[in-house]
Amino acid sequence: MPKPTIGLEVHVQLRTDSKMFCACPMEFGAEPNTRVCPVCLALPGSLPVLNRVALESTIALGLALHCHITPFSQFHRKNYFYPDLPKGYQISQYDLPLASDGYLTLPKESIAASFKKVGIIRVHMEEDTAKSIHGASLAHNVGYALLDFNRSGVPLLEVVSAPDLESPEEASAYLVELRAILRTLGISSGNMEEGALRCDVNISLDRGTRAEVKNLNSFRAVRKALEYEFQRQCERVERGEAVLLETRHWDEAKGVTIPGRSKEEAEDYRYFPEPDLLPLEIDVRWVEQVHRSLPELPEGRRERLASLGLHPSEAITLAHNPELACFFDGALEVGAPPKETANWLLGEVQRILHAGGKSLEETPLTPVRLAELLRLIQQGVISSKGGKALLEVMLTSDRPPAELVEALGLAQVSDPVQIRLWVQEAIAANPKQSEQYRQGKEALLAFFAGQVMKKSFGNANPELLDRILKEELQATA
Ligand SMILES: [Zn+2]
Repeated sequence: MPKPTIGLEVHVQLRTDSKMFCACPMEFGAEPNTRVCPVCLALPGSLPVLNRVALESTIALGLALHCHITPFSQFHRKNYFYPDLPKGYQISQYDLPLASDGYLTLPKESIAASFKKVGIIRVHMEEDTAKSIHGASLAHNVGYALLDFNRSGVPLLEVVSAPDLESPEEASAYLVELRAILRTLGISSGNMEEGALRCDVNISLDRGTRAEVKNLNSFRAVRKALEYEFQRQCERVERGEAVLLETRHWDEAKGVTIPGRSKEEAEDYRYFPEPDLLPLEIDVRWVEQVHRSLPELPEGRRERLASLGLHPSEAITLAHNPELACFFDGALEVGAPPKETANWLLGEVQRILHAGGKSLEETPLTPVRLAELLRLIQQGVISSKGGKALLEVMLTSDRPPAELVEALGLAQVSDPVQIRLWVQEAIAANPKQSEQYRQGKEALLAFFAGQVMKKSFGNANPELLDRILKEELQATA
């Protein structure tokens, strides 16, 4: 059985205030052709100016991916004609990418310490094209294309991996990890559905001739296209046919890849240095400064969280969700225990949020409040069941947890005298069941516990109740 060899080229839309080479504001979903100027419309005589934040974001990603940041870099013109590219070329980087020779580490859920390094060949900067919207007018029986130049000149990074991935699942895991890094750095939304991440994949069998599938815009499409392409190439080889070097497209509706143009080589683009932009000389001190200000990255975060005793899957989930991880750390800062916090945050909190279709930020729950809730359970003020009821209300109410415990009557009864009284009442009221218990029907213990819970409105301390119930049932015997 041949093995697939997979490499990914990911286009990342940066989240800067303005575009790559002009001051036009960036805004997803703005009215078409309202965020434009002479530069991004490619009017004659306009000159590009490089966005410093975009450059710094690229350096940050390069460092996060353990890349070498080149002290001397340059922009090139990549020449090709397309209606959404009014200049007739795209400003990109060619033989001098800003960052190169790095790696990304994939986590493996089953064993916390095991991982796989995927090589990063290069990270370079370029600009996005305008957006073509294709349609058809039934009345006039013609097809048409509309162009929205809001996207023209939006800063893009291209992240090119080495062909180190060996399955569609690994390709998926790579994308998830890359997105987590981008979100942790705060340089891109990483939303595939908004086009902030777009993926081209190349796949070959046993490092033979590769085919490329362009413009995949969901995690599902990446996985499905790779699965299909692997199967297709295997079948060709079985029939004794060669795999062709070509660019293919993914047909989402039919679930197949279809041949596109044969693949262009670099010389087809007639790359030459962009004369309107100075070469980049990157100050080493600036790179060091960016390095020092990098936040805790997913890889390091996973290790730290696992060392706190979290299950690897919990550590991975938190490392892939920077907002959740910050919330978690906030609760720990005010003394919440790590395991219980992870348990509640990833379990009950997510369950309630999911059911209500809300995100954590939309609720009044804060890390301090969650820590208080856990303290109330730990101190036996409320039961863990009471805690769940309390949490439900805390996700909509702004009142402090202690006050809600009063208002909802959730305080746990841990007074042994009171519990014993309820137990004795329950036994007296059910002589038949207590007789059966004495004859060995131990399952009836749960029946009596239920009776007491009813009397206490669910607030009797369960451990205490269990102990006293056993004592009293034995005593009656
Ligand atoms: Zn502009």
